[in-house]
Amino acid sequence: MKVRGSMVRTNKIGRLANELKSKPKRVRRIGHPRSDRGWIFEHILVVECAIGHYLSRPAEIHHVNERRDDNRPENLVACNDHSYHMLLHRRTAAYRESGHANWLRCMHCAKFDDPVNLSTGRWGSKGKQQVWFHFQCRRQFQAACRRKRYGRHAK
Ligand SMILES: [Zn+2]
Ligand SMILES: [Zn+2]
Repeated sequence: MKVRGSMVRTNKIGRLANELKSKPKRVRRIGHPRSDRGWIFEHILVVECAIGHYLSRPAEIHHVNERRDDNRPENLVACNDHSYHMLLHRRTAAYRESGHANWLRCMHCAKFDDPVNLSTGRWGSKGKQQVWFHFQCRRQFQAACRRKRYGRHAK
């Protein structure tokens, strides 16, 4: 299952950790467009019941308190797609750790800071992922990379 693979990846770097501790509830619902062999996540049914129509494919459900077994309607937020869902997690983590939902995490020191103190750039194989960093942390990171390279040459 594709979804499970991406969950494991995000867990590895520490995100979604709380949401993963709790298992989402599945219920039997044959013939539902999003059911997987007759099983569907209960939180999808709760949201669809509240909005009165089926959710479209890329939509995901976020659990506000990050407990996936808490399917009270007030704990659920429908996200249009995966990136909006991840934005909610970023803001939740930022608020929990820094008290400011709009603060961003430095990719090098992993600390949250006011966006005015951070630089932004692209990361990943195709530069798809947007990242933020302290200018100072980036310089230390680059210096460490250089040391590593020289270290290998010296052997
Ligand atoms: Zn979520
Ligand atoms: Zn930093």
